[in-house]
Amino acid sequence: MWSFATDPDFQTELDWIEAFVRDKVAPLDHLLGSQWDIHAPNFKKLVRPLQAEVQQRGLWACHLGPELGGKGYGQLKLALMNEQFGRSRFGPIVFGAQAPDTGNSEILAHYGTPEQKKRWLEPLLANEIVSCFTITEPQGGADPLIFTTSAVREGDEWVINGEKWFASNARFAAFYIIMAVTDPDASAYRRMSMFIVPADTPGIEIVRNHGLYGEPEDVHGHVRWSNVRVPHENMLGERGDAFVVAQVRLGGGRMHHAMRTLAQATRAFEMMCERVVSRFTKGEQLAKKQMVQEKIADSWVELRQFRLLVLETAWLADQNKDWKAVRKNVAAVKAVMPKLLHDIAARALHLHGSLGISHEMPFAEWVINSYHVGLADGPTEVHKVTVAREVLKDYAPANDMFPDAIGYRERERALALYGHLIEA
Ligand SMILES: Cc1cc2nc3c(=O)[nH]c(=O)nc-3n(C[C@H](O)[C@H](O)[C@H](O)COP(=O)(O)OP(=O)(O)OC[C@H]3O[C@@H](n4cnc5c(N)ncnc54)[C@H](O)[C@@H]3O)c2cc1C
Repeated sequence: MWSFATDPDFQTELDWIEAFVRDKVAPLDHLLGSQWDIHAPNFKKLVRPLQAEVQQRGLWACHLGPELGGKGYGQLKLALMNEQFGRSRFGPIVFGAQAPDTGNSEILAHYGTPEQKKRWLEPLLANEIVSCFTITEPQGGADPLIFTTSAVREGDEWVINGEKWFASNARFAAFYIIMAVTDPDASAYRRMSMFIVPADTPGIEIVRNHGLYGEPEDVHGHVRWSNVRVPHENMLGERGDAFVVAQVRLGGGRMHHAMRTLAQATRAFEMMCERVVSRFTKGEQLAKKQMVQEKIADSWVELRQFRLLVLETAWLADQNKDWKAVRKNVAAVKAVMPKLLHDIAARALHLHGSLGISHEMPFAEWVINSYHVGLADGPTEVHKVTVAREVLKDYAPANDMFPDAIGYRERERALALYGHLIEA
């Protein structure tokens, strides 16, 4: 079976989401600061009623599978929904689908005890609280094998010490999920374990909050952990399982980011198109200039290519029901998306001239965001290495120093097959 069509009932929902995001959610981007400050008075007045509308429509927090108590939409439908949410900074939170809470809820649904689910998962899914996922350390995030934050067992407790970095949302979070070294002498990928830690536990100190260029607030915490004690049951998964636990959130998270990135790039493209048919120079529309047409054509093709890659990966994830089986595809999506957003946002910026680089337009923020999506969840280089490694697993060396497909061998094989039928 091969079809690019969306089920008509679901298309109705997508159409509703598109109009709702455009007409009611996107205006919030121009009025509110951080989407994570759920206790801010304006958040309560403006965001809560929109969330209620989404809940009424049955489209709230659709990311959990049925085995985890969710709706089980599957990755393909989630991808199509995220393509719409991503058109506004507030889209994900209005639909109960914001990172890092979605991924953290997946971890809790998988590994939490019934008490932890009651205390943390339920209010998290209801967006009564928000959360923080913290693994990166100041000395380097791309290589988890050099992390030093430790958790040492003392009786029934674990004592955590160390520093974490760029912990998004730290200052608003009700709890943290933290990766810490519990077994320094174990093999590389068995050294660390994952813990859930209430944010008000003594010993957690936010040293500084860093902001991403263009973000309205500084929300990425440099967090110091000094003798932070948690009971043993706060370990998520088994001892040494941190990488296994982290995998639960990474596949879906990367796919959702990809479709939101696509949405941002699509907005840049739409604005670029409007600009080039509106502006005249040297006696004609910008759109008539061939070098401008090249930018439009390249951007359109790149958007279509990327969208197909993401949707195919989402479809494969639904077929396999196992992120490991689509590791190569997810890494490919993650590796391509920064360049897609960067190139299209930069072209849109350039074609808007001085206006494009001003505060009045979002392009500079989106160009910076392209670097964000190329770093968060691991830098592009690391994902390209994964793609290449996975691809090359299907290849074996040639039998001797010449390629197997060298011309004279191909002719020999062809002759062996058809030689008796052809004349000399
Ligand atoms: C906006 C934002 C939000 C974030 N939120 C969170 C969060 O909530 N929780 C969290 O734990 N972390 C978070 N991060 C951190 C993010 O995961 C790290 O930035 C990322 O893993 C890279 O680590 P680093 O910044 O220390 O860069 P480094 O590890 O120092 O890497 C810097 C550069 O070195 C190069 N490089 C690194 N490794 C390789 C390699 N193997 N091969 C070739 N080149 C390489 C790449 O060009 C890379 O960009 C966030 C980051 C950003 C930007």
